[in-house]
Amino acid sequence: MTFENLGLSPAMLQALARKGFEEPTPIQGLAIPRLLSEGPAIAARARTGTGKTAAFGIPLIERISAQWDDRKEQDGRPPVAALVLVPTRELALQVTEEISSLRYGPRPRLACVYGGASIGEQLRRLSAGVDIVVGTPGRVLDHIGRGSLDVANLSFFILDEADEMLDMGFIDDIRAVMETMNPTVRMLLFSATLAPEVLEILGERTSNIEVLEDTSKTLTTELAEQLWIEVHRNDKLEALSRIVDNEEDFFGIVFVATKVEADKLAASLSERGYEAEGLHGDLSQDARERVLGKFRDRRLSILVATDVAARGLDIEKLTHVINWSLPHDPESYLHRVGRTGRAGNSGTAITFVTPEEYRSLFRIKRLSGTSLKKGSVPEIEDILDGKKERLSARITSRIAGLAQDTEKSAIWLEVAKEILTANSPEEALAASLAEGFAETLDPTRYRDLVEVSVDGAGTSRLFVSVGRRDKIDARALVAIIKKLSNLSDRAIESVEVYDTFSFVTVPYKAAEAIIDKARASGGFPHVRKAAPKNTPDAGRRAHGNDRAERGEGSPARPGFGRKFGPRRSEGFAPKGRGGSKGPRQARKGQ
Ligand code: ADP
Ligand code: MG
Repeated sequence: MTFENLGLSPAMLQALARKGFEEPTPIQGLAIPRLLSEGPAIAARARTGTGKTAAFGIPLIERISAQWDDRKEQDGRPPVAALVLVPTRELALQVTEEISSLRYGPRPRLACVYGGASIGEQLRRLSAGVDIVVGTPGRVLDHIGRGSLDVANLSFFILDEADEMLDMGFIDDIRAVMETMNPTVRMLLFSATLAPEVLEILGERTSNIEVLEDTSKTLTTELAEQLWIEVHRNDKLEALSRIVDNEEDFFGIVFVATKVEADKLAASLSERGYEAEGLHGDLSQDARERVLGKFRDRRLSILVATDVAARGLDIEKLTHVINWSLPHDPESYLHRVGRTGRAGNSGTAITFVTPEEYRSLFRIKRLSGTSLKKGSVPEIEDILDGKKERLSARITSRIAGLAQDTEKSAIWLEVAKEILTANSPEEALAASLAEGFAETLDPTRYRDLVEVSVDGAGTSRLFVSVGRRDKIDARALVAIIKKLSNLSDRAIESVEVYDTFSFVTVPYKAAEAIIDKARASGGFPHVRKAAPKNTPDAGRRAHGNDRAERGEGSPARPGFGRKFGPRRSEGFAPKGRGGSKGPRQARKGQ
């Protein structure tokens, strides 16, 4: 599919080329042509990171550009043509930015309105006349109430990240906004999931809804098992050795960040007795081919490579891809792990994550789908047990082999008889094994790993999607958490219950398990990581790391009858759509 055959204007095609979009994503391919012409309400579902913003942004720009000469001025300015509601300030900014960057002229003019920011600038901007308003529900409602925003002549109304808005308790605000809109408005809903309650928002106003779904799988899902392992920087070599030793026939690529690292790690591994070599951009073409040839022939079991050197490599039947350090962006992650599990084989992708890298991990997790699970470094005992088993299997098969080849076995039997004249069979065999396999079964080959705990504090703040309205109080919440973990009351701290959601602090180690268990048990309540208010990076990442609506609005807004619950001033923000977004997503098998 190309942008050219979606029916876009030459100016837009140019803007897309400038922006660097080469081809439409699946949801863009589905949505753009439909939105370029008249049609029913649309509910579009596509995974996070699949370009839903441009899926509506591109046709919005095209449609509004085509019609603005015809639009009647009202009070000296044209009416707002499109209203986009998003759940958070971060998303409001991001969506505004994305749409602006796809324009091919000064119009459509955009205004971004969200809570927690001065309303004065927003009022000024709105009164100057805008074509598209992007905002969070509370602040949008606020502007409608003040008369600074009129949504009675909209061509489009977009609910972006609709599931997220519902999760955050915006349904009443959304309804109130919708009540003031013209009935002719075309409603578009974009969401990572389309649960019935999400569709119901549109269903309240129309029964004519076309559902668009991007059912394409990610590059990674089902291709490989994906694990992340927490490990200190200085323990990575130990962890890698254990992973390799735990396999009967490890055959994998270890991705590192730099050429120097590639050479250093390959050398350390060789020193430890592994068949390993580095592959990076400084190698001559000859050297590169020699290394790759050895790896393909399995004379190497570990290839230590940089992203660039490994680009385009297609090696079959890898057992592992190891990310020695986190790749810089989700895309390289996908390319790296895309190498395992080719041709119907199932490989394992393992990503080492140091405590400093947690945040980036969640970003990658979020953008690459939900199948990244937490794993652990194999225990020494387990590795040794496995090795013993394999050793004994190997000896047994050798016995069978020798029995068939009497000529070859004669010399060994002779030595054996000789040894047995003076020793018991057990002692003799044990000594023979020690002679041949001392290295393999030596426990001192391994050393202990440093326990990893995050931020020193070792706790995680969790957001739980139930609150007072669900008849939940602090005690009931503790009971829920205990059901999802085996924590004692003492380990569950700082419980805060609000109208529609709650917060609770648990030991870091338990947090992931609680989130997973909540998801596994049907996704209700929905549990995810929360981010503390005012942390420097609370809003750094896109997609709602911050609760935009915090502290917004004035209670006195006659005519709207909106209730202000404690969520307006609560102290913690639900964190992002994190890897923990997904109960419903998971059910849909994405
Ligand atoms: P979603 O809303 O589905 O989570 P976004 O709209 O935030 O996804 O887009 C995610 C990223 O993908 C953005 O950086 C966006 O610029 C980029 N993107 C969108 N469409 C394309 C495309 N066709 N080609 C390349 N990148 C794209
Ligand atoms: Mg989006």
